[in-house]
Parts: sequence; structure tokens; C-alpha cells
Amino acid sequence: MGRSVLVTGGNRGIGLAIARSFAEQGDSVAVTHRGSGAPDGLLGVQCDVTSSDDVDRAFSEVEEHQGPVEVLVSNAGITRDGLLMRMKEEDFADVLDANLTAAYRVAKRASAKMVRARSGRMIFVSSVVGLLGSAGQTNYAASKAGLVGLARSIARELGSRSITANVVAPGFVTTDMTAALPEARQKEILGQVPLGRYASAEEVAGVVRFLASDAAGYITGAVVPVDGGLGMGH
Ligand code: NDP
Repeated sequence: MGRSVLVTGGNRGIGLAIARSFAEQGDSVAVTHRGSGAPDGLLGVQCDVTSSDDVDRAFSEVEEHQGPVEVLVSNAGITRDGLLMRMKEEDFADVLDANLTAAYRVAKRASAKMVRARSGRMIFVSSVVGLLGSAGQTNYAASKAGLVGLARSIARELGSRSITANVVAPGFVTTDMTAALPEARQKEILGQVPLGRYASAEEVAGVVRFLASDAAGYITGAVVPVDGGLGMGH
């Protein structure tokens, strides 16, 4: 029998590719959504990850349908770009809440059952910009860098219970998030990517699936780039 997997923000984009990748190998996969529902074959649970109550309810629903979460993928994320001098505090705080505090919420909710089971996998979807920095994205980059400290601390706290915590740091991936970038900015980005193209969501999903596999049993606290070489050296 497959494992119980939960992917936040798994209703579309990279999260959906991750969810489908687990489902294809026979795992039971739940995805959070905020009203859109879930694609066929996936269990949809309504959840705004900025609400602890929503997170708690979503986990209870997942536990009822497919058992305690054995693989947690914290993927939901937002951008609210702007230059530092003009960035409203609200835009900074909202991005931190959705991208970093939400990861703490879901990890905390998942951890009790994983500790009891003495096994578990947590994978956090960060970004190359968390390590490189990005003009106009102080909020987003800070939130994505924060995930590294979060995951590495979890790796230390829960390693003795055979729970691993790892980070995937994608570069530019073809999704709604990158489609919204102006064409000139897209060209500029590609000029800095040694592989000269964007990643597909499936290429990110493959690495997440690997980190949740038996083959990755001895990998914890790692930051795995999936960025076509964009962030090399960081
Ligand atoms: P999309 O904008 O395509 O999807 C974002 C997902 O996050 C949606 O499922 C959305 O749900 C969900 N989400 C956002 N806020 C919340 C919230 N408060 N509660 C619950 N769900 C929420 O993004 P991508 O697929 O491109 O990105 C997925 C992850 O990968 C993000 O963390 C992003 O930062 C990261 N990433 C993306 C890169 C890229 O190039 N695209 C590069 C590097 C990292 P809903 O449908 O309800 O809005």
C-alpha cells in the first residue's frame, strides 16, 4: 500500500505536479485548495495555510481518509513584489505568513503523528532566490531563506525519530507565477541560467519524490537546487 501524502497548494502549478507524481506511484495523495477543489484522483481538503484552524481541520480530514500524513510537502506560496523602500509592512508580513509561518504550522501539525510512527518525510519548497537574494523580493527571499533554517532545525530535532526534513530550491519554473513576469525580465533570467531554459514543474516534482523515497533515507537538512545551474556556488 502507498503512503499518506499531503501537498499544500497541490491544486495547481508545481504542487499539482508533485501531487500527481506521488499518485502515479500508488501513494494516497491529498492536496490543499482554497475553494478550487482538487483534480481527479486527489483528495482535496480546503485550507488556507495562514490559518492554524484550517491547517488542523485539513490534517484531521486527511487522517480520516488516508491515515496520518507520512510525507508532508509544504509547497503553497505567494509573491508580493516591490522595492524595499516602497514595500508596505503588510506585504512583507503576508508573504512571511503564507510562505514561512505556514510551513511551521503544517510541520508542527504533522510532527506529533510522525514522532509516534518513528518515521516521516518533510519537504519544503523554497527558491533559489532564498540563497541568491532578488531585487524587489525582500519579503519572498527572506521567507524562502527562512525555510532552510526551519528545515535544518527540524532535521536536528526529529532526526532521532527517523524523520527527515529537506528543502528543494527551484530556479525558474514554468507556472502561473513566472508567466506573470514581463517578457524582458524573463529573457534576462534565462540569460543567467546555464541550461538556458525554465524547469518544468515535473522536474521539481521528481526531486521531491526522490527525497521522500527509500533511496533518500540518509538525506536530511539538505538544500537541493533544481535551478538549471542558476544558483551555483550558493
Ligand atoms: P502558483 O502561483 O502556480 O501556485 C501557488 C499555490 O499556492 C496555489 O496552489 C495556491 O492556492 C497556493 N497558496 C497560496 N497561498 C495560499 C494560502 N494562503 N493557503 C493555501 N494555499 C495557498 O505557484 P507555483 O506552483 O509556481 O509555486 C509553488 C511553490 O514553488 C511556491 O512556494 C513558490 O514560491 C515556489 N517556487 C516557484 C518557482 C517558479 O518559478 N514558479 C520558483 C521557485 C520556487 P490557490 O490555488 O488557492 O491560490
